[in-house]
Amino acid sequence: MENLIKRTAAIIKGYPPVVALTGSGISAESGIATFRGKGGIWSTYNPEEYATIDAFMQNPARVWKMLKELAHITMEAQPNPAHTALAELEAMGHLSAVITQNIDSLHQRAGSKQVIELHGNNRWLICLKCSKRHRVSQSLIEEIPPLCQCGGILRPEVVFFHESLPHDAYQQAVEKSQQCGCMLVIGSSVQIFPASLMPILARQHDAIIIEINPEESHLTSEVSDIFIEGKAGDILPRIVEEIKRLSP
Ligand code: NAD
Repeated sequence: MENLIKRTAAIIKGYPPVVALTGSGISAESGIATFRGKGGIWSTYNPEEYATIDAFMQNPARVWKMLKELAHITMEAQPNPAHTALAELEAMGHLSAVITQNIDSLHQRAGSKQVIELHGNNRWLICLKCSKRHRVSQSLIEEIPPLCQCGGILRPEVVFFHESLPHDAYQQAVEKSQQCGCMLVIGSSVQIFPASLMPILARQHDAIIIEINPEESHLTSEVSDIFIEGKAGDILPRIVEEIKRLSP
């Protein structure tokens, strides 16, 4: 393990630009259950019934019951040492962006500036009628469904299943993946398309792929150069410490 951490630190220093692709596992230590993990919101709410755009359009109030719970969980969670370590890597000039599949805003709350959100965020709501954006507030989400002043129903600025990704975020993620010298894949089973494409693109452009996860993924044997088995909150701070030790 110690050797892998040392090798990773040396690669991060030696193969810029470095980008991170994160999934729900990076927020597990903040108390937000992963998508496929046990005991989370998706054990109660079947994603096919609650997380598709069709389900939302057919019955916004029903889906808002789940969204309200999700909003409380993500808003009450705090960034953990893994989020902080990535923010620190960026501040040290060793990380050019975080591409995240998460909607919880914990990277930004930890201090990361360059965050590409592939699946939207929990900060904004959009009116289905007049398209006005509203900052999420406790009082807005007390209403089910929340409404705009114009009477339109508000939707969250998250990407539902069967919806396309925000164009700019997708484009930026593709560019970062094609241009990076190293990609850290942290806390994702990398099964949701097109986020799952990013490590493949990076690899095709000769980037070194380093995976940090307590469990192997389908990338581990075929795509990843290094697999560090463990929790992001344990491993990432140790990598940052090693980089500091290497720095003059
Ligand atoms: P997933 O459940 O398929 O995979 C989670 C991965 O995290 C697994 O590989 C697991 O082994 C790993 N993991 C668990 N604990 C970890 C830890 N402490 N450190 C590092 N890794 C850990 O989820 P996914 O691949 O992220 O894809 C599911 C989709 O649902 C994504 O869009 C995801 O972002 C979204 N989602 C987001 C949140 C959030 O915003 N926090 C929460 C749930 C789901």
